[in-house]
Amino acid sequence: MMSTSILQPLLLPLAAVGIGLLIALIFKPAITNGVRLLLSFSGAFLLAITVFEFLPEVYKEPDKYVGLCIMLGLLMQILLEFGSRGAEHGHIHQQTETKFPLLLFISLCIHSFIEGFPLADNQELLYGIIIHKIPIAIIVSAFLLNAKLPKMQSFLFLIGFAVMTPLGAFAKAQIPLLQEYSLYVNAFAVGVLLHVATTILFESSKNHQFNASKFLAIVIGIILAYFL
Ligand SMILES: [Zn+2]
Ligand SMILES: [Zn+2]
Repeated sequence: MMSTSILQPLLLPLAAVGIGLLIALIFKPAITNGVRLLLSFSGAFLLAITVFEFLPEVYKEPDKYVGLCIMLGLLMQILLEFGSRGAEHGHIHQQTETKFPLLLFISLCIHSFIEGFPLADNQELLYGIIIHKIPIAIIVSAFLLNAKLPKMQSFLFLIGFAVMTPLGAFAKAQIPLLQEYSLYVNAFAVGVLLHVATTILFESSKNHQFNASKFLAIVIGIILAYFL
């Protein structure tokens, strides 16, 4: 059974990757200041949604395993970043060889799959993930356009990356085991998102040099999330 409530989490993340690809194609592969600002904004927005909406939700009822699951999610994300080298927070290392970046692909896919889990239950978080996905999709698309990969491989990379979040949302809605442990699955996703969002903010102030426009982007992200 497909309700309309599952359609949004299935379609919007796909649209976010499409928008990211389009922006990368139009504005060309350089990761410009604008993308960095968007990244700072998205990190603040995602973190604020997690803190304002999602964290209180998983802590609604006292449960001693919720905190543990959040920390497990955090550890999972640390492990994933060994494989992706930080692509899910917009940190990408341009490769010069023509080999398919399999480890990067798998890590990004697992990350995207996990962040899809809570989307069917939380509308605000869906917006947070969409906003987070656009700059990441721009950066990943720019990386693929610059890498000397066969076009087909780049295409498959993006398709795989794009479908993982909707697939996660679908799996969570349809698999009874994930439903039964919904609270823990969501808490695990909170851990993943907390790590990604804070890393984006951390890396947006390289060398701790104050950057007024980035700071403003972060403040706007927080304010928007608050009034959502
Ligand atoms: Zn990084
Ligand atoms: Zn992500």
